[in-house]
Amino acid sequence: MLTISYQQKYLMDLAKEAKDVLHQFLDLIYPPRCIICQEFLEKKARIPDNGPVPLCPSCLGGFQETPPSHCSVCSRPFESTLEDVHTCGACLMKPPRFKRIAVPYLYEGTLMDAIHQFKYGGKSHMAGTLARLLMPCAAQLAREIGNVLVMPVPLHPKRLRERGFNQSLLLARSVAKELTLQLDYLSLRRIKYTAPQTSLKKDERRKNVRKAFELTRKNVVKGEKVVLVDDVATTGNTLNECAGVLLRAGCKEVYALVLARTAGY
Ligand SMILES: [Zn+2]
Ligand SMILES: [Zn+2]
Repeated sequence: MLTISYQQKYLMDLAKEAKDVLHQFLDLIYPPRCIICQEFLEKKARIPDNGPVPLCPSCLGGFQETPPSHCSVCSRPFESTLEDVHTCGACLMKPPRFKRIAVPYLYEGTLMDAIHQFKYGGKSHMAGTLARLLMPCAAQLAREIGNVLVMPVPLHPKRLRERGFNQSLLLARSVAKELTLQLDYLSLRRIKYTAPQTSLKKDERRKNVRKAFELTRKNVVKGEKVVLVDDVATTGNTLNECAGVLLRAGCKEVYALVLARTAGY
């Protein structure tokens, strides 16, 4: 049995006390603000354990969770307010190459604002908090499918230079670290410089990402289960295209883990 001596307990208490004092001191010089709306956070309003950077209750309250009634494959919400999970017509007609998209939120409200700031406002420090929001969904997926290889949806090198970081890699890295899963962000590459899917009409999206990806090291995914990580899914065309490349290289199954998806197709 593990026993903690009196001295060890004393030292642990002392360290905790010192940490609390340090946090109080830091709060005094840099009062914590909500990462989305920049409101100062009152001590009592601070939500514990929601990541390294806090969110105010109002912004967190503006997040729309994936409703209980949604497609079991693409997670698109249905009209019904009752819990109803089945495969939607579009996924039945043309089954996607990935098994399913695990996604905790809709791309709406304050989360849409947060993702915009994260991606286009160069606020890479938001990654930790956003990844934390993804964690329950990620843990559930990992429990379901066992050992997986985590791969972020890659950015084209030109886009990477413009943005400075790949938001999907930052999310994927946090998830892989937290769940001690293997991360591979080099094998899958984007070889076509494409317009953002959210800026296009439905029929343009498939064409936009066709042949946009390639796998540089084909044998790394052979017989593996892969979880693709992305920040936003619209039609699922990007994930589908990536899944196709992975499956052709002998990957066993492909799943997707996404922070937010649009409510429509
Ligand atoms: Zn806020
Ligand atoms: Zn569907």
